Amino acid sequence: MQSVYDYTLNELKDILKPSFRAKQVYNWIYKKYVTDYDEMKNIPNDLKNELKTNYPIDILKIVKKEQSSDGSIKYLFELKDGHTIETVLLLMKKKKISEDGVIEKSEKYTVCISTQVGCKVGCTFCLTAKGGFVRNLTAGEIVAQIVQLKKDNEIAENKSLNIVFMGMGEPLDNYDNLVQAIKIFSEDEGLAIATRRQTISTSGISTKIAKLGSENLGIQLAISLHAVDDDLRSELIPMNKAYNIKSIIDAVKAFPVDVRKKVMFEYLVIKDKNDDIPSANKLVKILNGINAKVNLIYFNPYPGTPYQRPTRENMIRFQDYLLGKGLICTIRESKGLDISAACGQLKEKEGNGIN
Ligand code: SAH
Ligand code: SF4
Repeated sequence: MQSVYDYTLNELKDILKPSFRAKQVYNWIYKKYVTDYDEMKNIPNDLKNELKTNYPIDILKIVKKEQSSDGSIKYLFELKDGHTIETVLLLMKKKKISEDGVIEKSEKYTVCISTQVGCKVGCTFCLTAKGGFVRNLTAGEIVAQIVQLKKDNEIAENKSLNIVFMGMGEPLDNYDNLVQAIKIFSEDEGLAIATRRQTISTSGISTKIAKLGSENLGIQLAISLHAVDDDLRSELIPMNKAYNIKSIIDAVKAFPVDVRKKVMFEYLVIKDKNDDIPSANKLVKILNGINAKVNLIYFNPYPGTPYQRPTRENMIRFQDYLLGKGLICTIRESKGLDISAACGQLKEKEGNGIN
């Protein structure tokens, strides 16, 4: 049995007759965050009963919630089969209210969502990888993460959000459900999150990047590059042996990006591994010819990892070098660092019963 969150508006129109009912249901679930068909006042009872039986509103159960001092909130959600996933609401800009109570600037949110329980890729620096791969999320489970966050935080239906597919799992390893979720997110009658506000972060499955590009969805791309030579990259991301740096760069060059937008390259900085200037120099060469921006990420250590967090001096030195060569480069602010920041860490804590 599938969840109502699995369907695009057109698919629901094909199922529900008369078809305008689909639009009504979509409005209830995505604009009012209603999770009980009985609350849908304009839906006739017999249809409500059919919907309850065949298209349940499978909202995610909140198992745990951690609020960071910067306003970000990390959620641990439970799926119907008992597995858990993480979703993070990142407060990018706080609301600004003037002395006389007028809102001068409204808050800005980005939501980091998961696409799988666990991950197959097995990166040696990643906590999610440690638990192995369990299963793909359905499109409905991907979509429900945003609905639950908006509902739980009472975020207005017309408040625009950015989505990053950067939680647990490798999005392109769950290709069909990912693409279905992207389409559902962007429905005007639903959450109305434009595809240009959705960024997919991938460890670099080149063939799937090419396939995604051919669909011309208008989404943004982020590549977890992390290393500039194939030896180190294969140590960090074993899949690099099959999809090496050159294959990824070629796929990115062919990817259709809005001319005003850049492809983001994430570079996880690990002390004494890839934080040196020759690496920065090689990165500049690799990205030559791409409208790229680089996001440097501090490696976030966890018990048992052989890797270390880089020093702030080395991060800034690396950034300055790239900036000096004309590359746009930011250092990822560790949003919510006090709430077990890197992906997989909240779940790990729960699993170990450390709290
Ligand atoms: N599988 C996708 C998206 C999920 S991982 C990908 O790899 O891109 C999201 C980001 O978290 C990746 O850039 C990944 O490198 C980063 N990450 C994983 N473990 C981390 C850690 N211990 N410290 C900091 N960032 C980490
Ligand atoms: Fe999977 Fe991304 Fe973690 Fe690598 S970094 S194991 S691809 S979630």
